[in-house]
Amino acid sequence: MNPENIEVIHQGEPNGNGWIIRLRLPSGREIFGLATENFYGGDWDLGPTWNYVVRGEGLTLIDTGRFGMGGRLLALLEQAGIAARDLTAITLTHGHEDHDGGLVELARESRAPVWVHPLYDRLRRSYPEQAPQGRAHFSASCWHCFMPESFTQVQCRDYHRQRDGLETNLLTGSTFPPDPGIRLHHLPGHCPDALAFQVGDEALLVGDTLLPEITPHPSQEAFLQGTRPILAPALQESQSVYGLRAYLHSLKKLQALARQFPNLIVLPAHRLYYNEQWGIIDPEVRSQEISEHHRQRGRSIRNALRDGPLDDEAIARVLFEPQLLKGLGMRMAVNEVRSHLELLAHCGDVGRLDDGKTASTGRSNYEEYFQRLEAD
Ligand SMILES: [Zn+2]
Ligand SMILES: [Zn+2]
Repeated sequence: MNPENIEVIHQGEPNGNGWIIRLRLPSGREIFGLATENFYGGDWDLGPTWNYVVRGEGLTLIDTGRFGMGGRLLALLEQAGIAARDLTAITLTHGHEDHDGGLVELARESRAPVWVHPLYDRLRRSYPEQAPQGRAHFSASCWHCFMPESFTQVQCRDYHRQRDGLETNLLTGSTFPPDPGIRLHHLPGHCPDALAFQVGDEALLVGDTLLPEITPHPSQEAFLQGTRPILAPALQESQSVYGLRAYLHSLKKLQALARQFPNLIVLPAHRLYYNEQWGIIDPEVRSQEISEHHRQRGRSIRNALRDGPLDDEAIARVLFEPQLLKGLGMRMAVNEVRSHLELLAHCGDVGRLDDGKTASTGRSNYEEYFQRLEAD
């Protein structure tokens, strides 16, 4: 995609906030991009959420900004010349709060049906009987959340309550029922319900699975320990929808898709425009880069463990710049470290000790894992 093909309807801030763009595809379809603010504080700035509207056989809104941004997105839609009532469907790239936060408001204002992945539909509900201590009214997708209670009790209570009451239609096939010109690809790993939307053979809306400049967080296989009772029996394998292994397989699928459809324009859910630059990525190259990043991370952890066992925070300090570890940054970094430790443990290269530290087993099957992945 060339920036020349992007029509700027509204120029927002240098980091992308408030931008509205339009792409006219050769088939005659149009895609609007609308960027809603998404700042949580600290040094980990993803940039705004890029929500998209596909004008094909219908008018489909994909993603709805973070919680509290519904009104903002409605205003951007209006500025783009799209009336909420004209939307024929609303759907999501995945069930993270910066993408489904405005869903209830958008559904209410547009009266458009909401279409979601079946895993989203299970995880967005609360299950007071099965929830961990103190999280009875949390959506199951947030049972493992690392934010402190002082934050979640204030910021997230209404979010959990609202999404629990949604009316939904399930996306069970490989096409999007309201617009069969849109194909669906389930790409779990960053989030278990992550979907990419393929518009003809022209565009791919990848959500957070593939981002310019930043490597998306992988989830952890351990999250399934909490949600196993509420997920379908077919999804009981720990690595099928959670963790780095699931994510690496999704990157492989994206590479294959990019080869099959070489003209796909990738529209990411963050950083389409950031720091006054367009984040235009080649899906095959970017998938490979991110996969390579994770391979390197695993190598660095194995090297760090050569001198003896380390706890997760000590490993994070080896891998991340000190300014990224301030405040909640350490918790996010430890989450990433755990995703890598799960893969290293799966390979047999590391093991957890009783004191919670991780030790090298002396084996090195990790490289072979990546070689097999590449050869698949
Ligand atoms: Zn996400
Ligand atoms: Zn996101």
